[in-house]
Amino acid sequence: MNFYDSEKMVDLLKPLGYELHNDGDDADIIVLNTCHIREKAVEKTYSELGRIRDQANLRKEKTGKKTIIAVAGCVAQAEGDQIMKRSPWVDIVVGPQSYQNLPELISKVDPIEKNKLISIDFPVIPKFDQLKSKITQRGPSAFLTIQEGCDKFCSFCVVPYTRGSEYSRSIYSIIDEAKKLIDAGVKEITLLGQNVNAWSSKGKDGKVWRLGSLIKELAKINELQFIRYTTSHPLDMDLELIEAHRDIEKLMPYLHLPLQSGSDNILKLMNRKHKVDDYLKIIEKVRNYIPNIAISGDFIIGFPGETDKDHDATIKIIKEVKFSQAYSFKYSVRPGTPAAVFFNQVDEQIKSSRLQEVQNILREQQFEFNKKSINSVIKVLILKNGKKVNQYLGRSPQNQSVYFNHEKENLIGSIINVKVSEAFQNSISGSIV
Ligand code: SAH
Ligand code: SF4
Repeated sequence: MNFYDSEKMVDLLKPLGYELHNDGDDADIIVLNTCHIREKAVEKTYSELGRIRDQANLRKEKTGKKTIIAVAGCVAQAEGDQIMKRSPWVDIVVGPQSYQNLPELISKVDPIEKNKLISIDFPVIPKFDQLKSKITQRGPSAFLTIQEGCDKFCSFCVVPYTRGSEYSRSIYSIIDEAKKLIDAGVKEITLLGQNVNAWSSKGKDGKVWRLGSLIKELAKINELQFIRYTTSHPLDMDLELIEAHRDIEKLMPYLHLPLQSGSDNILKLMNRKHKVDDYLKIIEKVRNYIPNIAISGDFIIGFPGETDKDHDATIKIIKEVKFSQAYSFKYSVRPGTPAAVFFNQVDEQIKSSRLQEVQNILREQQFEFNKKSINSVIKVLILKNGKKVNQYLGRSPQNQSVYFNHEKENLIGSIINVKVSEAFQNSISGSIV
């Protein structure tokens, strides 16, 4: 989502005459876009700001020009004016719901008076209604945020505090943005949301639409070839979405559905509001409808109170579900969330060894999943060049990285068939058919 926000900020600043510069040494503005989901984000932000200060000072010495320094994202939201206190060289602090104000804030920066500009209120007019900027160049695959914020308040999570309450964009603004992305050369769109499948809005027919209907509508855009979405929540998985997977060819057979823990006790303490069995039933149903679907997930290891028995339950579920790939993280304390003050925090070493065990199994499962692709022919969208000469990297329908070689013409953005011949831990490779 930060990646999407960063692209939007670039779009917003283009009309002011700014261009994206990958190296900050001679930039007029440096925007540090931050994530707060796990620990260390705050300290990382401050140390990065120290580096940026040195960069800006050097530029000033060399050229006499001031570099405007802005901090955006969820650390900006959570820290607010603390950032100005600890790093007084920062000019702008802007939260994830107010970055549409960046052009105005930049215009107010006074190079001599050192005025400080902070914009972290949750706006009354939703951000998206004010983000009417033109879409500049994108690669073959782009993100499109359709839903933001969250009202679920899992006890470990900062999202409801930093991104605000749940909000769904209107169908019209989503379709409009999708069409603009297509005009900018995009072939694949990944719909984004903290809980993307909680999206709902009034449809063309006056009825309330959910994600499945939205995907059906988006699939009507001819040039749009591949549709994905992330991240889903088990409580918001409905039949309409599962049917959309079955019926809409453009919707890729990949579902990222976090479980967080395989223990009902822990799920309860996490305030997830569902049981392990509910998750298993969803997976069973999804696999009945779409047998080849790749299942991914998220796990938090070492949540306060997690016992060996709870951990074993997580291992058992992972073995039962067989993920194509999944993300796992050590629980990290987020100040201001309920779990931060739970008494029975788990020892760091225990967390680490449990995480290792989980990741070893997930790695094995990913390799096994990749091996199953050998000898199949898959439709691949070519995203970029690989590291080796004449090598290309694309994405398979089941969200695997696919490598192959090709000489002659540039294939980036093309859709081709690849016959898979080899499988690795994190990727598969083959040749064009
Ligand atoms: N809305 C999604 C997840 C969004 S946050 C859901 O509810 O499933 C993305 C992932 O970050 C989470 O799935 C979780 O696994 C991880 N995460 C969030 N807070 C965390 C914390 N305090 N410690 C460790 N991992 C965390
Ligand atoms: Fe965070 Fe997801 Fe829980 Fe919302 S549902 S609080 S985003 S983990």
